[in-house]
Amino acid sequence: MSDLTHLFEKIARGDVPSHKVYEDEQVFAFLDINPLSRGHTLVIPRQRYERLDDLPPEVGAAIGRALPRIAAAVCRATGAHSYNVLSNTGREAGQVVPHVHFHIIPWHGPDRSLGIRWPATPIEEDDAKALRDEIASALADGH
Ligand code: 5GP
Repeated sequence: MSDLTHLFEKIARGDVPSHKVYEDEQVFAFLDINPLSRGHTLVIPRQRYERLDDLPPEVGAAIGRALPRIAAAVCRATGAHSYNVLSNTGREAGQVVPHVHFHIIPWHGPDRSLGIRWPATPIEEDDAKALRDEIASALADGH
C-alpha cells in the first residue's frame, strides 16, 4: 500500500491539514495542493472507496448533492464561468490517489485550465447497437 492510500481519509478527519471548503456527514471538499487552475477543488467521500464504481448508491447520492453547490461556489469565488469535473479512475486513466475524488477545475484561459486531448471519431452503427445492448444488459445484471 502506498503512502497515498489513506491520505484523503486523513485529510477528511483533519489529521492532515488542508484548505477545507465544504463538509457534511459523508462528503468533504478541499483545495488541491497542486492546482491546474485557481480554485481547483477536490470533492471526496469521507470514507475511502478506491474507484467511482465502488461507491454505494447513498454515498454516490451524497456526492451528487454536494458537487453542483461546490462547483457554483468555486465559480462565484473565482469568477470562472466554465469548468471541468473529472474523476480519474484507474492508474492508466491518471488516478494517483486510490480514494475516489472529483476534481472541479475552473477554466481561466487555455493555459490555466485542464488541457484535454479528445481524439474523437464517429461511432459505427453496428458497434453502437452491440455496445448499447451489452451495457444495458450489464446494468440489468447489476454489474
Ligand atoms: P488524481 O491524479 O489521483 O486524479 O488526483 C490526485 C490529486 O490530489 C492531485 O491533483 C494532487 O495535486 C492532489 N493531492 C495529492 N496530495 C495532496 C495533499 O496532500 N493535499 C491536497 N490538498 N491535495 C493533494
